[in-house]
Amino acid sequence: MKKIYIESLGCAKNQVDSEILLTYADDEGFVRTERPSEADVIVVNTCGFIEDAKKESIDTFFQFRSSYPEKKIVLAGCLAQRYASELELEEADAIFGNHDLSAFPEVLRRLEEKDAEQIVLSPEYPDPDSERDARKYNLSMPRSAFLKISEGCNHCCNYCAIPIIRGPLRSRPFDAVVEEARRLISSGIYEINIIAQDLGAYGTDWGKGERFCELLKTLSVLEGDFVLRMLYIHPDTFPLELIDIVRNSNGKILPYFDIPFQHADHKVLVGMKRTGDRRTYVGLVRRIREALPDAVIRSTLMLGFPGEGREEFEELLRFVEEAQLDWMGSFLYSREEDTPAWSMRNQREHNRAHKVAALWQKELEEIQSRITAERLERFVGKKYRALVEENIAGEDLSIARIYSQAPEVDGATVIMGSDMMPGDVVEVGIRKVRGVDLEAVKIRKIERE
Ligand code: SF4
Repeated sequence: MKKIYIESLGCAKNQVDSEILLTYADDEGFVRTERPSEADVIVVNTCGFIEDAKKESIDTFFQFRSSYPEKKIVLAGCLAQRYASELELEEADAIFGNHDLSAFPEVLRRLEEKDAEQIVLSPEYPDPDSERDARKYNLSMPRSAFLKISEGCNHCCNYCAIPIIRGPLRSRPFDAVVEEARRLISSGIYEINIIAQDLGAYGTDWGKGERFCELLKTLSVLEGDFVLRMLYIHPDTFPLELIDIVRNSNGKILPYFDIPFQHADHKVLVGMKRTGDRRTYVGLVRRIREALPDAVIRSTLMLGFPGEGREEFEELLRFVEEAQLDWMGSFLYSREEDTPAWSMRNQREHNRAHKVAALWQKELEEIQSRITAERLERFVGKKYRALVEENIAGEDLSIARIYSQAPEVDGATVIMGSDMMPGDVVEVGIRKVRGVDLEAVKIRKIERE
């Protein structure tokens, strides 16, 4: 039995691609192994949108190469797609782009050919209607899955390489998305995390305005015991109708909003090719909370973008104090070739600005961690449904997540007791805050419908 191992780097959208690659490999008679040492083929599904991610991808590739010199190793994903033609990586047996994953079987077959030369394959996107979406593998925690509704992006923010890598926005056919959601629900998935570069842009590439609100309403009335979580909605085109859709969904759509504001100073945002400012963004946060008092808001903020001085940074600090975000991720601007922002400064200027921004990042994260800790207190003493992810070996503890905790990026809920299985949905009572986590006791198990 041929075996395949996949190392999935980068974002949730890349994870879905890894699940589709494994499904194609399955068609070719491969079974997935979680031990690279057992694999006949190792796939490193890379990320390639900022410097750090590119470095991590190359380092990871070479770790596998040096550990398994005899094995077939495929460099796939965004780094392969972005640099397919110029990547001088003879150590890779294949370099496979991510626009047309249906070409993966060809890579696997050619790898089996004797004395096969290095394979470099990055075909263009196929017709969206022909795109495979049935995944036989789910790399998420039990009963949780990502549902990718589109790829690519038309916003073309000046710093972002994603439109270069993934191309313009490609919304998946409406019925195909609904059908996939149905399949996930009937396979026992409880938490469906809906993802895209910008959910709010869904369907705008069909020329009749966004269709995300309609899609969300359609998904929220599907039969079954499940919840929907939205990840990544661009603030400047945030469909305000969403707020009422969430409020009227009887808890089917979690009041969880991941809105990457990136910054709050208007001048900096305009430099990024965005349109917002502190007042508008705080207004959006307040509007959501007025309608949904239990709403949880996560955001991503960037530091060090050209045009950001101490004054602009302090405008961002004012925003963070006013917005009182629940969760925040911050990263330093990465100067990416072929993006419009590349020419806004040279590398020496960039290195200087980067050092200063790294200090500001510490300042920002200190303020935000205080805000996050304060915001977490509101969960104490209340009851929630929690999806169990794992039991802590050797300790009478289980790790779970309630609605306010997205997979991989937010804190978790630590439940006393280990009489729960990963994938169980349990009702818990929150006892206290423990750093960025919540400590809870189990009240009862919620049986599957
Ligand atoms: S919206 Fe996001 S994915 Fe799209 S260009 Fe801007 S940063 Fe990149």
